Amino acid sequence: MLIHLVDSHHNFSYSMQKTIPDLGTLESVYDPSNFRNIGHEIIDLLADHIEKVQTDSEEPVLIYREPKDELLFWKQDFSSDSEILDVFDNILKHSISMHHPKYMGHQVAVPALISGLAGLLSDVLNNGTGVYEVGMASNAIERIVTDLVAKRIGYNSEASGFLTSGGTLANLTALLAARKAKAPTAVWEEGHQEKLAVLVSEEAHYCIDRAARILGFGNDGIIKVPVDSEFKINIEVLEEYYTTAKEKGFHVIALIGCSCSTATGSYDNLNHLANFAEKYDLWFHVDGAHGGGVIFSKRNKHLVNGIERADSVVIDFHKMLMTPALNTGLIFKKTEDAYQTFAQKAHYLWDSQDTREWYNSGKRTFECTKFMMSIKVYAILKTHGEEIFEKHIDTLYNLASIFSKVIDDNPNFELALRPEANIVNFRYTKVKNKNVNSFNADIRKNLIISGKFYIVQTTIKKELYLRTAIMNPLTKEEDLISLLNEIETIAETIK
Ligand SMILES: *Cc1c(COP(=O)(O)O)cnc(C)c1O
Repeated sequence: MLIHLVDSHHNFSYSMQKTIPDLGTLESVYDPSNFRNIGHEIIDLLADHIEKVQTDSEEPVLIYREPKDELLFWKQDFSSDSEILDVFDNILKHSISMHHPKYMGHQVAVPALISGLAGLLSDVLNNGTGVYEVGMASNAIERIVTDLVAKRIGYNSEASGFLTSGGTLANLTALLAARKAKAPTAVWEEGHQEKLAVLVSEEAHYCIDRAARILGFGNDGIIKVPVDSEFKINIEVLEEYYTTAKEKGFHVIALIGCSCSTATGSYDNLNHLANFAEKYDLWFHVDGAHGGGVIFSKRNKHLVNGIERADSVVIDFHKMLMTPALNTGLIFKKTEDAYQTFAQKAHYLWDSQDTREWYNSGKRTFECTKFMMSIKVYAILKTHGEEIFEKHIDTLYNLASIFSKVIDDNPNFELALRPEANIVNFRYTKVKNKNVNSFNADIRKNLIISGKFYIVQTTIKKELYLRTAIMNPLTKEEDLISLLNEIETIAETIK
């Protein structure tokens, strides 16, 4: 069988043809020369793509298609004889470009390119990592990476943690540890009879609600505390909510702080929460999935003052720390808590449950097999230095602050609140005879279809706002100004 190789990475002319073994054989699946050739082409394809979105302002962020059209495209591709490089090229063209400076949508990192290469390495090596022998390097490096995070949180040497697949799973794991530590009975062995509950802000990420339900706490076991005017958990009413829960027969096991909340990027006052948790002997957990990365920034670390008092902290590397998803650190103030979470017999994997082996990371994680996550973070640290996280966060938070001032100065727009993080919520208000919520939703729809920017929307106090999470440090102030201009242009045409 012939496969057609590409003669130049700018030109898919397939002029050069080369005979290689039949691609239907098992040998061909593992043929290094084929891998090398295609690999070079893929890197070129990606590099060209990134160069283009970074330099050509006309390049769309996203070429939007309706789901049925997208499905049809790929059905046709699947039954065609398209080459794999064409497939990859089409995947690029049919995907949103995180590296585009006008991507300002969901909170997913614009990955450092070196971490993407570490991802390639780790996917090919595919060391399962849960067990030391299948992940020597990744387990040792995981220890280094998580120790660094523990140190930046401000924990002492009693702390340790691990990496796991996403903030959702990490929050669930932390709450499992909380239940193990604070439930009145041995829940892991006996289940629980008493009604258990957690206290959290009503602005918390929905995964906290899900985690509590998975734990069997039910509707009333997730106590949602109202927020104040800055969308931070309202400290004034915390006591009242706690007391009411007690009166209803709940045993409250944990208090969760948001650093920061997802919709508005508001940071809860962690020292207040730590005081409260201490007073009532609650597990204090900090969901820093999005904004916990500020521990690396001198300028912004104050937003998480008190974080070192938490029993557990979650920080997503794939949100604010430049790493491809999923990649989350879960750090415990006391190492022992992490080992207790899943303490049970699994002796075919590990010599003894009683030996606390950091290098068998599966002892502490939900996952059995897991990605070699650590090397993606390590690649960034080794290539760019730890300071790159600080530069990254400071740049994004500063851009958000500048953007909020630009919005404030423009009479056609309303800012929902002054941002603490890189999340800015605002809306167009020069609306006549139309519902301002649906008008803004229409603006967004038109903006997405234009391909010029990617932003999202959210509901704050029942009102719809346009929402930008500025994730790309190469986004410029001019891009933000041109976003407002574009919105005004759309508003004029659809009004
Ligand atoms: C994104 C996010 C999560 C969920 O994390 P995933 O990594 O997407 O699973 C949880 N909490 C907050 C505050 C978040 O921003």
